[in-house]
Amino acid sequence: MKIASARLIVKNLKKTLEFYIDILDFKPLGIFPEKEHPIWATLVHEERDADHFSMMFLEYGEMDPESPAYHKDLDKIQKGAGVLFYFDIEGVDALYKQLTSKGVKRFIHDIETMPYGLREFTIEDPDGYQLTFCQEVKIDHCLSCGMPLTKIEERGGKKVENPYCGYCTDDKGRLLSRHEIEEKMMNYLIENGTLKEEARGLAQQLMSEQPAWTKE
Ligand SMILES: [Zn+2]
Repeated sequence: MKIASARLIVKNLKKTLEFYIDILDFKPLGIFPEKEHPIWATLVHEERDADHFSMMFLEYGEMDPESPAYHKDLDKIQKGAGVLFYFDIEGVDALYKQLTSKGVKRFIHDIETMPYGLREFTIEDPDGYQLTFCQEVKIDHCLSCGMPLTKIEERGGKKVENPYCGYCTDDKGRLLSRHEIEEKMMNYLIENGTLKEEARGLAQQLMSEQPAWTKE
């Protein structure tokens, strides 16, 4: 496959192009018939995307009313429902900063490092279509229980250098005993649906795979 595109119906293509090109730095591959009065356009986020994925826009008034994608009353559609576009980019923080400096204030999801290893934020375009920009990042895991550590507040004693999470440590950030952590993990597993008689074995197994406990 050379190019995959998603075609979105928009209310006012000129406004859409201002948002995607001027604010988000998308590059036009084609605008028809001309930039001042566009009815159709194809954009890519970065030059390197040109062979992979593009966003195609068609102004609502240009749609064929016989088309199954046609909706009689665009204003009655819940904007962007059921669709989320992901853009895997480099420099997600730089793009975020650029948007805020250009006056974008509303983020559907503000920038955050997620436990699944992506740093991302989500905004919506003028028609309500949601766009997530994400970048792969390396995530530390608690060396005692394996929980992902994405924020300082999740670390023991809220200390940035602490390799253990807040659950595995006391309020000063010191690692609890193996027994204490095993009890906590058991309770956590039971609360989350593990059978009582299986919880201890599972907690012991999970902990035995973590660096803090493998040596013992
Ligand atoms: Zn932990």
